[in-house]
Amino acid sequence: MTNVDEANSIEKDLIIVGSGPAGLSAALYAARADLRPIVLNGMTLHGQASTTDMIENYPGFPEGIGGVELGQQFQTQAERFGAEIVMDQVTSVDLSHQPFIVKTYGSTYKTKAVIISTGATHKKLNVPGEKEFVGRGVSYCGTCDGWFFKDKDIIVVGGGDSALEEGLFLTRFANSVTVIHRRDELRAGAILQKRAFSNPKMKFIWDTVVTEIIGNEGVEAVKLQSVKTGEEKELPTQGVFIFIGHTPNTELFKDQLAVDEKGYLVTNKRFETTLPGVFAAGEVTDPDFRQVITSAGMGAAAAIQATRYLEELEESD
Ligand code: NAP
Repeated sequence: MTNVDEANSIEKDLIIVGSGPAGLSAALYAARADLRPIVLNGMTLHGQASTTDMIENYPGFPEGIGGVELGQQFQTQAERFGAEIVMDQVTSVDLSHQPFIVKTYGSTYKTKAVIISTGATHKKLNVPGEKEFVGRGVSYCGTCDGWFFKDKDIIVVGGGDSALEEGLFLTRFANSVTVIHRRDELRAGAILQKRAFSNPKMKFIWDTVVTEIIGNEGVEAVKLQSVKTGEEKELPTQGVFIFIGHTPNTELFKDQLAVDEKGYLVTNKRFETTLPGVFAAGEVTDPDFRQVITSAGMGAAAAIQATRYLEELEESD
């Protein structure tokens, strides 16, 4: 039975879900193939990269480029060829039949192909106090919140590239930035390690986890525990920045597409998911690289493959 929503739906050849580097690169390629794609933007316009202060490893920008600026340039380039970026969030998808149904808060779309580029979301520590103090001392984005921690003593949790990159950024504002890492060796790359170790504002506490975040109006301290000795202590701090990895945003597609053991969408080399006509690109399918350049490349490839799929579909009609 067709409901009222579906009867008033907008018909498209291709819908792209998510507007990070993968989604907007897919939009650029699909627009140049004259598919007039719609990009449904989601919660974070231009994706996680837009929350990065400076991107130094995207080719073509030898001096680096701000995350916000790069995202805007991706969008402008895709729009120039006819892609439409819609500020609306997908609430449900039905991939069980052609055309696929994509519902947002504002509209219902029927589409012959979908590219999923919904990215990933930062993981939480899940310790007491974390949820309570979000926005009052607990943060997952240095670029967004660093300014509020001027001359404060803050901690960063994690030992990867994000922890060091964001920690280094936070030294612009904070009095000190103490990295709390659960091992005695960092996962982050060599250049970031070198910068972090030589920055006088950065300190390190090794083999230690945060077990609780304590405060009143705002964060006042964290409870730490040594993973080696079990010893517990309190460390006064006014800010807790958490960078402990990511979870792919696949909730909308659960039970409709195959995911791997970590929850990432499974694709083949052509970025096809387990359903014909549904493609995935960027961090929603990539636990390994998670770079702007790799996500953009995947988006372009997914759009080329979606174009081929649509051509074949038309020929078979
Ligand atoms: P990541 O590489 O997965 O590192 C997460 C860190 O958090 C690890 O050090 C991990 O410890 C720690 N961790 C995980 N769960 C924890 C928990 N429950 N409690 C305490 N610590 C925990 O994540 P990421 O730093 O966000 O980086 C993700 C990807 O993006 C990587 O491929 C990275 O290279 C890339 N990236 C690149 C750049 C750049 O090129 N400039 C910048 C940012 C991110 P263990 O080490 O013990 O596992």
